[in-house]
Amino acid sequence: MEHFSDALRHRSLGWYDRGKLMHEDQFKQAAYGISRYLLDARLVAQFRELGGILETGKRARPEPGIGKVWAAGRRPCKGRWIGLKAHVRQLPQTADLEMHAGGNGYVGLAGVEDGWTNVCGLFRLNRAQRGVGEELLPAYLEAGGNVALAAALRAGEWKKGSFSAVAGFELGPQVPLAGLLTLGDAESMIPPFTGNGMSMAFQAAECALDPLTAWSRGEVSWDLAAKEVRWALKRRFSRRLRVAQALHPILLAASGRALLGQLATRHLLPFQRVLTLIR
Ligand SMILES: Cc1cc2nc3c(=O)[nH]c(=O)nc-3n(C[C@H](O)[C@H](O)[C@H](O)COP(=O)(O)OP(=O)(O)OC[C@H]3O[C@@H](n4cnc5c(N)ncnc54)[C@H](O)[C@@H]3O)c2cc1C
Repeated sequence: MEHFSDALRHRSLGWYDRGKLMHEDQFKQAAYGISRYLLDARLVAQFRELGGILETGKRARPEPGIGKVWAAGRRPCKGRWIGLKAHVRQLPQTADLEMHAGGNGYVGLAGVEDGWTNVCGLFRLNRAQRGVGEELLPAYLEAGGNVALAAALRAGEWKKGSFSAVAGFELGPQVPLAGLLTLGDAESMIPPFTGNGMSMAFQAAECALDPLTAWSRGEVSWDLAAKEVRWALKRRFSRRLRVAQALHPILLAASGRALLGQLATRHLLPFQRVLTLIR
């Protein structure tokens, strides 16, 4: 937990649809705001301090084997999505965490260290979309009707090297690799509007800890340890994955967003209840 001691604490949430504020709320438990750069560097340092050997600059192959755990993130496929991310400063924000829905996807805004805002969006992949590199993010936003946010992004200060794009992946349970024990996104990818994938990666590691420790001490076979990990993952995540996957298409469909907008206007949006179901 010391890795998060200086992380920002996000409490307020603003949900927008194409620039229009639909709903404001508060998290009962604050969300941490920290960049992957900083968090990964801290995890690497701790892993090495504990005697772990980290090899970088090499790509492993997803082959099953005794004692092998595959936690290499989303599984490339001919998926329908593109994820675009950058760190930008000088963005006007009304809430600690903002979710901006549009006709082609959604983007989340969350502060991280040094005044930067992590801008991370998921969009339906459109190979005809104009724009290359950094320009893709405002271009996708504009195409989805988030014109003001696109303009604010273009006017902001972009952290050099922070832009990244990932395309070609599917959300939900990933196709199992025969005999290989997988964790994190490699096992299942929650739709990112939940802002929960990182927590799930840590929780998945937690689920695996006891069975893998028992195996490393020779107390159980590898097959049994792997089976127990899979059961623990299922118990912990199946409900939130089901709920998130049911909500995700509603957020993307114009009719679904209109319905949510009407509920929000009447203060009938069950935000806290839904939050409990995806946590
Ligand atoms: C658009 C979008 C927005 C998101 N927003 C949020 C958010 O706001 N909050 C949140 O909590 N989560 C968010 N997520 C989800 C979150 O990023 C993931 O759930 C989380 O990173 C999964 O962690 P992981 O360790 O399983 O995989 P990763 O973080 O992807 O780590 C996998 C690692 O394995 C390495 N690797 C890959 N292939 C190989 C190979 N062949 N050999 C060796 N190494 C390999 C990669 O380089 C990487 O270092 C978002 C995801 C998307 C797509």
